[in-house]
Amino acid sequence: MRRLTGARNCGHSTVEYSVASFIQSFQLLSQAEPCSLCGEVHPLELHSCVARSYRDPETIEDVWIKVPVRYCHRAKALGRQCTKRLLPDFLIPFARMRLDKVIEAGRERERGNTVEECCRIIGCIDLRTARMHLKRIEEAAKTVALTLAESQAAAVHLHETDSPLRPLTPLNRLEELLVRQKEAQLRAGWSRWRKENLRTVLQAALRQNMKKVPMSYVSRPPPRS
Ligand SMILES: [Zn+2]
Repeated sequence: MRRLTGARNCGHSTVEYSVASFIQSFQLLSQAEPCSLCGEVHPLELHSCVARSYRDPETIEDVWIKVPVRYCHRAKALGRQCTKRLLPDFLIPFARMRLDKVIEAGRERERGNTVEECCRIIGCIDLRTARMHLKRIEEAAKTVALTLAESQAAAVHLHETDSPLRPLTPLNRLEELLVRQKEAQLRAGWSRWRKENLRTVLQAALRQNMKKVPMSYVSRPPPRS
């Protein structure tokens, strides 16, 4: 493992994040979860920590933090992609806005609130950006919900409840399916609950969906301090 540099708390008020504890949680996860690059279970190897920014919705300014980059020598030996940025669950891949805020705005929109209000929650400067994020989160919620519904239909013996989901909004439907998924996994005797929650599944789906469209977020270097 290469030496870590720049691991420090970022010290801002709106999100609790420390790169050191984030790495620690990933190290624990790596004892049981397969590596996202090679698919095998092995200890987390780190390549480096890199600067990453996100928009603070209150100040509408960029906040800079460090995120770790995973390295996998097995993937390297197989000739596959061997490094990957690990994002905390409040970030959206290839986007500056905060995932928790976009989800919050998505819920408000589903409750009938205006795009203007959603724009304020996300911290966008213009309505077009807010609309784009609302659309992406809705699409991601639908994609994950479909996958979960299909896997639950295929394992019907593990699912006791069959109350209809149709009248729910996409985010509520996804949450309901995640609850059912967790119940089924407990029923199947899984002693360990995978760290899947609304944010992590939406983050993964947004990453997949963003690979299909041209990049809207150009990563800029952090300001000199
Ligand atoms: Zn690996």
